Amino acid sequence: MASDRTLPASRIRAAQPSHRLASLAPFLAILVFLALLPLWGNDYRALIGTRAAIYWILVAGLNLIVGFAGQLAIGYVALFAIGAYTASILAAGNLMTEISPALALLAAAAVGAGFGLVVGLPALRLRTFYFAMTTLGFATIVTQIALGWQSVTGGGIGLSGPSLPAPFDSAWGLYGLCVGLAVVATIMSANIAHSRFGRALIATRDAEVAAEANGISKPAVLVCVFLFAGAAAGLAGGLFATLQTYITPDAFTFDLSLLFFISVLIGGRGSILGPLLGTILLTLLPEIAAPLAAWSTFVYAGLLLVIVLAMPGGIAALLDRSNRQPLAANRAIVPNIASLGRLLGTARSAQNLTLSDVVLSFGGLRAIDGLTLSVRPGEVHGLIGPNGSGKTTTLNVISGYYRPQQGRIVLGDTDLPPGQPVGRAALGICRTFQTPRIIGAASVLENVMVGGTLSGRASFVEALLSLPRSHRDEAAIRQTARLALEVVGLGALEDVRADHLQHSELRFLEIARGLMLCPRLLLLDEPAAGLSATEILRLGTLIRAISRAGVAVLLVEHHADLIFEICDQITVLNLGRVLAHGTPAEIRVHKEVVSAYLGG
Ligand code: ADP
Ligand code: MG
Repeated sequence: MASDRTLPASRIRAAQPSHRLASLAPFLAILVFLALLPLWGNDYRALIGTRAAIYWILVAGLNLIVGFAGQLAIGYVALFAIGAYTASILAAGNLMTEISPALALLAAAAVGAGFGLVVGLPALRLRTFYFAMTTLGFATIVTQIALGWQSVTGGGIGLSGPSLPAPFDSAWGLYGLCVGLAVVATIMSANIAHSRFGRALIATRDAEVAAEANGISKPAVLVCVFLFAGAAAGLAGGLFATLQTYITPDAFTFDLSLLFFISVLIGGRGSILGPLLGTILLTLLPEIAAPLAAWSTFVYAGLLLVIVLAMPGGIAALLDRSNRQPLAANRAIVPNIASLGRLLGTARSAQNLTLSDVVLSFGGLRAIDGLTLSVRPGEVHGLIGPNGSGKTTTLNVISGYYRPQQGRIVLGDTDLPPGQPVGRAALGICRTFQTPRIIGAASVLENVMVGGTLSGRASFVEALLSLPRSHRDEAAIRQTARLALEVVGLGALEDVRADHLQHSELRFLEIARGLMLCPRLLLLDEPAAGLSATEILRLGTLIRAISRAGVAVLLVEHHADLIFEICDQITVLNLGRVLAHGTPAEIRVHKEVVSAYLGG
């Protein structure tokens, strides 16, 4: 990151240590408890503790899929079973010469990763429930294969699990191993959650269109997570086979799948601690209240109802006190334009955006009918017209959501490929939306950081292991995001959950997110809608300053005052056609515009 984008030292609040410690404390408390358990435990307690640790290894991965990416993977017991059978079969030498139990566990993780991808792939195409059904279907297939392939799996009779060498052959030895691996799984999943990949996952969950506009490719990030979660599930399965010492297909029931899935839900979406507590709770529940074991499906269904109705945020929301305090009622958004130079300091080469003869019809309706316009760097180009005249559709065509049936869209001298919204951000095109698209459950700062996803250099694996490059990415993105918030005037709200903001603040938030890209072209869809008169004035000054910094701005707006005040060029649309084009002075006196649109 160039040095001219750095903040003054006084503004840098790097990873506030007290805040960090507070969020680590519950994990440490659980760890201390688990470390002390052997002191007053019997073998039975070791068994339950080991089981909870094994389940958590799986849930830690699944949490990224269900809790972060919002994908309904309900059949994850399939990967658990695959891991268990892989480890057992390889350790027993049923398929080829036997290998050591430790290698067999590693192989279980590798096979789990492979099948994790296979199970996950439908999610790239199918919507929620259809995906849920495919994961369930897969779980059924796995059980059937385990039953049918008798020579290898032992069919209904089953086979022995791998037996690890000392010291892991004792109850507490295995416990220690599983807890250790659970700690690793926790750290890895937290590393991802706190990286640009974790934010990307939540963005695809809560604001998919905005995620795409920020250059986040859902398939790319989901594939990485499916591999990781599959590996975790496979390893957990292998450990489970070791713990059970003997496995049969009926160990891998739908109930167990529900336990994994519901652990995430009662824990709370987008949290690590919540699902961890959820897993512990659901593992202990049938042990504490033995009669409940027979009723587990019923209990899970009941728990699910309680969560959905009474605490949709899950355990995590119950524990989170930071966002309960009401915000000051009369807060003002005061952009700090002086900092804009530092934010856009590394601006890209300026380029014209030119649309020529663009046509787009929805069925018989010509939403855009031969539109030609050119937006120049350093200028604000207003796009106005009555409702339904094709303004938003024009922005959608430029940002790649719609494919025009005719015409060209050119940035500089490159044709923008139609129908590829994800690629636009890399070209320096960013946008805001007529209805703000934000991640309500994430903080203001995290929302803005989503805009910096593309600037990260560390790979998924580097983020998983929290290697130095990933740290540098995070620090740079955070710092730029703070600067962007300061520029738009939301600096004081960075820790607030975005869904606590007022509508007008969300509009500025979207602009801050867009500025993270150092854009060439900024597309604004009615940014002044819902703003007070003062806010509109400040917005106008901000937009003008952004354009003067060398950005081409295409502004869709209804507020005539704002348009005439800040635009250099105005195009007036009517029924998808250009009704008029010119400077504000020309448009103001244009007869047809005045009678058709401006009134009077
Ligand atoms: P506005 O200028 O108010 O932003 P729009 O660009 O949203 O207008 O819409 C232009 C026309 O295209 C409207 O008649 C609208 O109903 C229609 N339209 C927009 N999006 C779609 C869509 N996805 N499918 C069908 N019709 C659409
Ligand atoms: Mg519109």
